[in-house]
Amino acid sequence: MVKAVVGANWGDEGKGKITDMLSQETDIIVRFQGGANAGHTIVNDYGKFALHTLPSGVFYGHTTSIIGNGVALNIPVLFKEIQDIVDRNVPMPKILVSDRAQMVMPYHILFDAYEEERLAGKSFGSTKSGIAPFYSDKYAKIGFQVNELFEPEKLKEKLLRVIVQKNILLEHLYHKPLLDAEELFQTLMEYRQMIEPYVCDVSAYLYQAIKDGKNILLEGQLGSLKDPDHGIYPMVTSSSTLAAYGAIGAGIPPYEIKQIITVVKAYSSAVGAGAFVSEIFGDEADELRRRGGDGGEYGATTGRPRRMGWFDCVASKYGCRIQGTTDVAFTVLDVLGYLDEIPVCVGYDIDGEVTTDFPTTGKLEKAKPVLKNMPGWKCDIRGIKTYEELPENCRKYIEFIEEQIGFPITMISNGPGRNDIIYR
Ligand code: GDP
Repeated sequence: MVKAVVGANWGDEGKGKITDMLSQETDIIVRFQGGANAGHTIVNDYGKFALHTLPSGVFYGHTTSIIGNGVALNIPVLFKEIQDIVDRNVPMPKILVSDRAQMVMPYHILFDAYEEERLAGKSFGSTKSGIAPFYSDKYAKIGFQVNELFEPEKLKEKLLRVIVQKNILLEHLYHKPLLDAEELFQTLMEYRQMIEPYVCDVSAYLYQAIKDGKNILLEGQLGSLKDPDHGIYPMVTSSSTLAAYGAIGAGIPPYEIKQIITVVKAYSSAVGAGAFVSEIFGDEADELRRRGGDGGEYGATTGRPRRMGWFDCVASKYGCRIQGTTDVAFTVLDVLGYLDEIPVCVGYDIDGEVTTDFPTTGKLEKAKPVLKNMPGWKCDIRGIKTYEELPENCRKYIEFIEEQIGFPITMISNGPGRNDIIYR
């Protein structure tokens, strides 16, 4: 059976924790999109880890961790991540990397930084991991798949060809040092050594695994609103963040995905630029940021302070719908225990008209939040194990949001740990 764990919003919903928790009963965990630009934070018996490329299942001896063809594979980052966890006494995980995954090239990272520099104030707030230049090249058909590392002669020839175009941009647009084909080739040969033990025909492997009745989990990065088609374009990421893309980015039939667990956070946070209707500022935001997540709302990859906001029913309803949600995992609820009243965004006012339908970007930028105050519960709910034991106002908050978004909240996360979960 195949499940997907994905985000409904701007990312950082706590997907890593939910995946880690579900991993106990999972045989195979697959990353199907994105790259090392975002990360998951996971707290378990080995310590606290920030993973960028590895799936969250690497901490279990029984799981196989897969990097699917849809991922932007940064080989040295992956290599270092494996090294880091092994150095901290986690047993060497079983890892497979799709032979069709494409590689983030050193120049993708350079181009990402150069373009942000060129755009200056108008930049997208990229993490400069090379993701946008990587996916541009993939779809321009000048990317490099892992399998190409094993045909060095052809690889060299293609490198020479691709570099011509890159060097024209470097010279005339960015005024930066040019690329050297021989040096790049040597780097790729080092990548080959690093990746060789893990390379696999992943779609064939998963085809067999599905036949054998294995439990497979597709792990998404970021969330619905960062999807290039359905999100807040152009302030989006460069690969699809939707569960549907899991079929493509892993190489399995779409009808095999039976459960779509959409992770929704009890308040909002976002990184990077773009419209964020329920955003809050000043002391109110600082306090939520400081108390948020596990040790504050700061980017797992960049350490950047996240933008903060109240729960957004409009964005979350849409985010859940576009994912094809079967279950909502409602996370980080414990953080809200300090508030007397909890504002929730229940509608968008666009030019005087209130809507609960998430609009396209131009309209979104004009939207003002319509807020409703919910009573707080003013206590710490960590450690509570059953739904009935939650304070009444806390249950009212959950049930109100469930009604607004229109998808069943079947899991409630009330702490960062693996076991801080309440099933409904
Ligand atoms: P992801 O990219 O969606 O996995 O999100 P992050 O890595 O940003 O995770 C959000 C943060 O919240 C991490 O530091 C988690 O350890 C933490 N976290 C996840 N669930 C909960 C929860 O229910 N309560 C609290 N307090 N922290 C949580």
